[in-house]
Amino acid sequence: MIILVINSGSSSLKYQVRDTETGERLAEGTVERIGDSTHGGPIDHQEALDRVTDDVEQALQGKAIDAVGHRVVHGGERFSEPVLVDNEITRSIERLSPLAPLHNPANVQGIRAITTRWPDMPQVAVFDTAFHRTLPEQAWRYAVPDELYTRFGIRRYGFHGTSIGYVTHHAASLLGLAPSEFTGIIAHLGNGASITAVQAGASIDTSMGFTPLEGLVMGTRSGDIDPSILLFLSREGYSAEDLDQLLNRESGLLGLTGQNDMRSVVESAAGGDARAELALDLASYRLAKYIGGYHVAVGGAQALVFTAGIGENSWQFRERVVGRLGALNLHLDDAENRKKSSAPRQISTEDSAFPVLVVPTDEEAAIAEATAVVVGR
Ligand code: AMP
Repeated sequence: MIILVINSGSSSLKYQVRDTETGERLAEGTVERIGDSTHGGPIDHQEALDRVTDDVEQALQGKAIDAVGHRVVHGGERFSEPVLVDNEITRSIERLSPLAPLHNPANVQGIRAITTRWPDMPQVAVFDTAFHRTLPEQAWRYAVPDELYTRFGIRRYGFHGTSIGYVTHHAASLLGLAPSEFTGIIAHLGNGASITAVQAGASIDTSMGFTPLEGLVMGTRSGDIDPSILLFLSREGYSAEDLDQLLNRESGLLGLTGQNDMRSVVESAAGGDARAELALDLASYRLAKYIGGYHVAVGGAQALVFTAGIGENSWQFRERVVGRLGALNLHLDDAENRKKSSAPRQISTEDSAFPVLVVPTDEEAAIAEATAVVVGR
């Protein structure tokens, strides 16, 4: 099938066209500056989509799109699998907007833009939270009064699920296992970063929680902090918007070093920059602690898997993390770790307690495959 994959954000619309039989990427691109027409951006998602479809129709040279797959960030407690979109589903995604105020409204705009342009096109929503619907209650509850959950839906949801599901599948296959036989730890380290404990193919714990802010040190996000810091700062006069900006956009590697890109931080550290060195220590130390915790959570991992921009490409960061895992008896093969490759691969030595793998993620392929399955039913 030919699937158009749409990742609709508040000010950008990313797309890919994938052939699910061959895995081929037939077209891809990004329309930016939505709502910023003074700088040449489209006025809204509908106009952004018109630009996309013009490009796509040219690239496809007469081939037709069979279905559209949408990346949807928040599926709340309702969605544990990809679904065929109809009006009721769209409204349901819209109703989840308070949980993902930047993302879900933009995802809905993407869906509506397609409906307007091609009213009969099958559309499938694939949710970032869905893979984590298997979390046991001990992992998804916060130790706060019940009312916060029943009234506001305050609980841990977890994110990056589409990527983690895809990587679980491919890591299992690298080990010669079915996905349901895979028990391990998957570190998705991109600009946003999270780590997931997978037991028998299912997510049983993950570091992102109510929002994608919890957990690891990220490009611009703080990850775990003492919640009292927010109380302290709000008493000091910081508004909710100030705190949002501070923790989501000005913290993490950026807050510690002035740079949010891992490549620059690694380079600065290599050049002797003490702040960059500290940031790498902080990020790798916290990640190593999570790995230790998740090794216990899954009852003994069979593999540790690195994925996404940093996980796939930064041998230096992988070296720092695994270097802290001596207590688990994990050892990297230096040459394998440093090798550049886009293939799934093992980077640990044979005497490592369990394999350390690099498995490239491909969210668009995962969304295209899921869409083809739902539409083919
Ligand atoms: P993602 O969000 O998955 O696209 O990942 C973005 C992050 O990956 C950024 O922090 C980049 O610095 C990092 N990254 C991409 N390529 C490399 C590389 N070759 N070495 C180190 N980090 C990289």
